[in-house]
Amino acid sequence: MSNSALAIAQKNLESTGWLDLEVDPTLDLVEEINKLKKERNAIILAHYYQESEIQDIADYIGDSLGLSQKAASTEADIIVFAGVHFMAETAKMLSPSKKVLLPDLKAGCSLADSCPPHLFRAFKAQHPDAVVVSYINCTAELKTLTDICCTSTNSVAIIESIPKDKEIIFAPDRNLGAYLRKQTGRDLILWNGTCMVHEIFSHEKITKIMVRHPEAKLIAHPECEAALLEKAHFIGSTSGLLRFTQEDEAETFIVATEAGIIHQMELASPDKTFIPAPPNNMCACNECPHMKRNTMEKLYLCMKHEEPEIILPEWVIEQGVKSIDRMLEISEAAGLGLKKDEEPD
Ligand code: SF4
Repeated sequence: MSNSALAIAQKNLESTGWLDLEVDPTLDLVEEINKLKKERNAIILAHYYQESEIQDIADYIGDSLGLSQKAASTEADIIVFAGVHFMAETAKMLSPSKKVLLPDLKAGCSLADSCPPHLFRAFKAQHPDAVVVSYINCTAELKTLTDICCTSTNSVAIIESIPKDKEIIFAPDRNLGAYLRKQTGRDLILWNGTCMVHEIFSHEKITKIMVRHPEAKLIAHPECEAALLEKAHFIGSTSGLLRFTQEDEAETFIVATEAGIIHQMELASPDKTFIPAPPNNMCACNECPHMKRNTMEKLYLCMKHEEPEIILPEWVIEQGVKSIDRMLEISEAAGLGLKKDEEPD
């Protein structure tokens, strides 16, 4: 590859989101990526919603809580985040001295985008005494306006850690917020945001599958709508759903969350059957288009050239990280997720 091709790709990075360079189709990308991991002392953290080949090459695969705990504890010099933008930002806030790479900067999140910080600031001003709890699926700037972050794994523990006489604002996911209202009995003030993937499941098609497979259990992520959650046999975070399929005696599961997690479910329980909950049209809308922007080629290119990198203003890191640290402390005290000193797998 010529230096000029690289210079052009770097110049275009803002508009493309990734280093748009040709990759030799004969390259063994698994071997090359493993080589780069060693040479650069890099760790690959991958979310469960990534393509299966990316999950297979990652050093750690997890949901938002596990990934942020790994990002906080790793000894690697470079964190390569195979996930979406807010996750890589969280890793940068937790490890500001490390280089954090994201294969495609345009791997965003509809939920994070549904809560623009300038609008949220005005919303927050209407409830000046409220404690702000934000789902970790939000921008770095929103985290600066947040008292405590949470993930779907620890959200109940976080809400319950707040004194009963305190008002609580919950942002940005209204479905998770409604679920938390039910679980904790607290009257949360909700921001009206949603995730495009978890909103799209077809209740009618799921009901038909349940009739056809009466032995199957419906398992759902709390970002799904309340009407779907009411039908579910089990509700849990991504890692909670994975664990449930391993521990429960059912042989068939209808999975109402992003379909990428099914790869780990099949690896963990090869004799069980997993049916992805269908969306309400014919597209692959139960796959997150943002997560799927990452590919093996983009992963290889970003590790080879150490770009695109996540850069955050210092004030955002300083103010935003407090809400994540608080979340990790409460999670650890509640015995949730990984311990801070656990080494990457
Ligand atoms: S699945 Fe939903 S919440 Fe997760 S990254 Fe995609 S859009 Fe965001």
